[in-house]
This record gives sequence, structure tokens and C-alpha cells, in this order.
Amino acid sequence: KQRLATELVAQGLTVRFGGLTALNDVSLRVRPADIHALIGPNGAGKSTFVNTITGFYTPDSGRFELSGVPLDGLSPHAIAREGMARTFQNTELFGGMTVLENVMAGYQHRFTYSILDAALRTPRFLREEEDCRRAAIGLLEFVGLTDYGNEVARFLPFGLQRRLEIARALAPAPRLLLLDEPAAGLTVHEIDELDRMIRRISSLGISVLLIEHHVDLIMSVADQVTVLDYGTVIASDTPDEVQRDPRVIEAYFGG
Ligand code: ADP
Ligand code: MG
Repeated sequence: KQRLATELVAQGLTVRFGGLTALNDVSLRVRPADIHALIGPNGAGKSTFVNTITGFYTPDSGRFELSGVPLDGLSPHAIAREGMARTFQNTELFGGMTVLENVMAGYQHRFTYSILDAALRTPRFLREEEDCRRAAIGLLEFVGLTDYGNEVARFLPFGLQRRLEIARALAPAPRLLLLDEPAAGLTVHEIDELDRMIRRISSLGISVLLIEHHVDLIMSVADQVTVLDYGTVIASDTPDEVQRDPRVIEAYFGG
């Protein structure tokens, strides 16, 4: 594995919603190019963690950084520019656009053309659009959607929409990819394919934070596992160690 990739360090994150403490002093470290799973029962605070480190929620306390660059206090847009990309627990595609257009939308940050360039279809606009199209086709190939580029996104089977979301998240060339329950609703066969795709993403040198319920997938792909329960980290270790941890067995695996 390439070890040039980025490291995520979150320290002492606390997030409250009124009287509810969704995250309670959560510290977590994703090592460069690791596949790090974040697991825990429903309501444990996993999505809140993702929403916090992507800038959608403001923590009551704590800090987080990517490879030494502090990110707390930045907007979601600025955090994305620093190399953080995510998928959502509920797929959020542009349903009416084609598969290729959805991935091309992921490249928008790179464009330097103006609205006028686009309207007049100037050489600058045409060149950038062509570069973007070529890169997007490459990503469709990477996720196995080459044959679906011209399909309308909302008519894709569910499992392929999930792949498309991952392709779009990869478009800005992130250094850390956050996947929020990517296996939910997938068939056993599709979960196998997801397993391989996560490994391929990791082998590109991209760090992965995988929020999942699917224990087999976690134990298969994860280098490290952090377990949340009621907003608190109760374990963070290798999959083998975590599986043996009595607190984890009680909280998560149901004894
Ligand atoms: P998980 O993803 O582990 O299932 P969440 O992070 O979605 O858990 O939720 C953790 C807790 O925080 C839950 O009790 C949930 O109801 C609450 N919560 C999450 N987001 C919000 C919000 N925007 N407003 C109020 N409560 C929230
Ligand atoms: Mg969630």
C-alpha cells in the first residue's frame, strides 16, 4: 500500500442536540491509507461523527485535522477542498441526470470557466468539459459502470446507484473517503463487489472510513475498527481484538 496518504485525527469531539449527547468526547485516528471501520448500534452517533468531520454539524468541543491541517470551523465546502469526500447513508444522486453527468458533476471544483464561457461554448469551456468527461469515464470504469454512462441515474438498480455515488465521491481525488453504510440494502454478491472496490480504493492510497453494520464486511476489509456506543468510543483496535472485547460483545454483537 502507498503510505503517502492522509491521516485523520479527531480529538475530544462532543456534539449535543438539546439534552442529547450524540458524541461524547470522541477521539479517533484513521492511519494513512488504512481502511478504518466505525461501528456501533443504531443511534450510537456514527452519522453524527461523519456529519461533524465534514463540517455539516458544529461540535460543542473538540478538534479534527487531516494530515496536520486543522479542519474544525471550516465549511463543508472548504473541508471537501482539503481532501475529504463522503457518501450519504441515503443515496443522494442527481436522479434526472445521466450516470456520466453525475460523475462529471463531481469535478465541478476544477473548472475555471465562467458562466459566459459555458453559454458561448468557448474553447476554454470545451477543453475543460472534454477533460472532465474523459476523467469521469475512467471513474465509471473503476467502479464497473462503463456500460451505464448514458442511463438516467434514478432508473439504475439500487446496487449500481450505490457504486455511482462512490464514483462521484472519488471525482475530486479525495485523500479520505467516508462511506456511510454503503452495504445497506445490497445483496450478498454486491457486498462482495463492494469489498473488492473498497480494497481497490485503499490501494490507490486513499484512506477509508467505513461506517457499517455488516459485520462480515468489516471483519474482511478493515485494518482497524472503532466501536461507538451511546456516543462514546468503547474500543478501537484490530478486527480480531475488537471481536474479542467483552464490552463490544455486550454492546454490539448482543452477547
Ligand atoms: P447512527 O448513525 O450511529 O445510527 P446518529 O449519529 O444518526 O447515529 O444519531 C445519534 C443520535 O443523535 C441519535 O439519538 C439521533 O436521534 C441523534 N441525532 C442525530 N442527528 C440529529 C439532529 N440533526 N438533530 C437531533 N438529533 C440528532
Ligand atoms: Mg447512521
